[in-house]
Amino acid sequence: AHMNENKEFVLVGGGNAAGYVAHAFVENGIADGRLCIVSKEKVAPYERPALSKAYLFPLDKSPARLPGFHTCVGSGWERQTPDWYKEKGIEVLYDTSVSGLDISLGTLSTKAGGTIKYSNLIIATGSTATRLPEAVGGSLPGVHYLREVEDADSLVSSWQEASKVVVIGGGYIGMEVSAASVSWKLDTTVVFPEKYVMPRLFTPAIAHHYEEFYKSRGVKFEKGTSVKKLVAGTSGRVARVELTNGKVIDADTVIVGVGAKPNVIPFLQAGLKSLEGGIQVDGQFRTSAPGIFAIGDVAAFPLKIYGRTARVEHVDHARKSALHFANVLTHKTTDPYDYLPFFYSRVFEYPGSERKLWWQFYGDNVGDTVEIGDFNPKYAAFWLVSGRIKGVFLESGSPEEFSLLPKIARNQPHIDHLKLRNASSVEGALEV
Ligand code: FAD
Repeated sequence: AHMNENKEFVLVGGGNAAGYVAHAFVENGIADGRLCIVSKEKVAPYERPALSKAYLFPLDKSPARLPGFHTCVGSGWERQTPDWYKEKGIEVLYDTSVSGLDISLGTLSTKAGGTIKYSNLIIATGSTATRLPEAVGGSLPGVHYLREVEDADSLVSSWQEASKVVVIGGGYIGMEVSAASVSWKLDTTVVFPEKYVMPRLFTPAIAHHYEEFYKSRGVKFEKGTSVKKLVAGTSGRVARVELTNGKVIDADTVIVGVGAKPNVIPFLQAGLKSLEGGIQVDGQFRTSAPGIFAIGDVAAFPLKIYGRTARVEHVDHARKSALHFANVLTHKTTDPYDYLPFFYSRVFEYPGSERKLWWQFYGDNVGDTVEIGDFNPKYAAFWLVSGRIKGVFLESGSPEEFSLLPKIARNQPHIDHLKLRNASSVEGALEV
């Protein structure tokens, strides 16, 4: 069995948070010979959001491929290829899945039967896409999930042969994948049980604009219904989707985007405290066991600004939690993590696309909303509680306008409701 050489800091997970930890450890001079990354994936950490965006561009529109989007290119920093890790003295164990943790011995066990000893353990195992049960056809050939680069490769190879695509789920993955699918000129239907797309964030009006735009690009929607069964054809490959509303849609390719679950099982089984389905940490990413930390999707952390606990499955938090953790470790700060929630998406952005849609949201989507603009191209929504702005959404802003959003959401200014409502433009509303 393999014994790792770098055992002072062992990081489990080879995703977004891992790449940013490696960057920060190098910047702080604590990487060389001291950090070991253990990753289930066969490739070095990359910017995962690309998998449902530039990775899925039509093949004649220069889609992104590795090594192009290894971390930390998403932040405009050096691209960390496998050679970069070698040069920096960071040991990376690829294709290695951790299956157990023994806190009293300070060891990890791997699926292949190896043991890894650590002094400090950082857990950054991210999430796994939720699957439809086998009995519903969730594992048929032609049924795809999207989490890792191998999943994206498999989807692209299906699309090269596909003609009828069904996307299950109206969240981020459903929206980004269906936009890509019609960009490939494939017959595309999105199915989801809610009344409108992105219901956890979008207002009905935002969702309406998005759905109309998608329809103008050829996407069909089946709303308020869900999958009864994915049925195979004679070849064994998925051939149709039976819905609970009785409709049947032919499909040779199905993408399931119905949420994700944090990868925490071996760590919780070892006795780490759990919260919000993840691993409980404090404002410095310490778990309930000394010398063990958790960051990224798996961490349930104090969301200081709103005085509650949160688990955030978004890349901005993966990056910032990694950087904050490194700053705490190197005594650059003793401050607790003070995260401001930030979500975004971009669709129809392939080269030559007539129009790209791009929104950003900062803050908390609670309270009443005031919405400004006609989506042509700009649109803004403000969430207000007792006259204070709690959250702000902007579609197709300029870089300057987008840069106002975190300031507004952080400061939570008191505003005149009427003045905001009567703002004549999105630009004007952002000034209020
Ligand atoms: P991950 O990046 O998921 O990395 C976890 C790593 O741990 C993986 O390498 C995994 O293989 C490895 N691992 C898991 N279990 C084990 C184990 N037992 N042993 C060893 N290794 C293990 N967020 C946004 O904010 N904006 C977006 O536009 C956006 N788009 C996305 C598109 C897609 C297709 C996906 C899947 C996610 C997207 N996200 C987006 C979410 C964002 O990518 C995640 O929040 C972020 O990657 C989390 O970082 P992480 O390091 O915690 O986990």
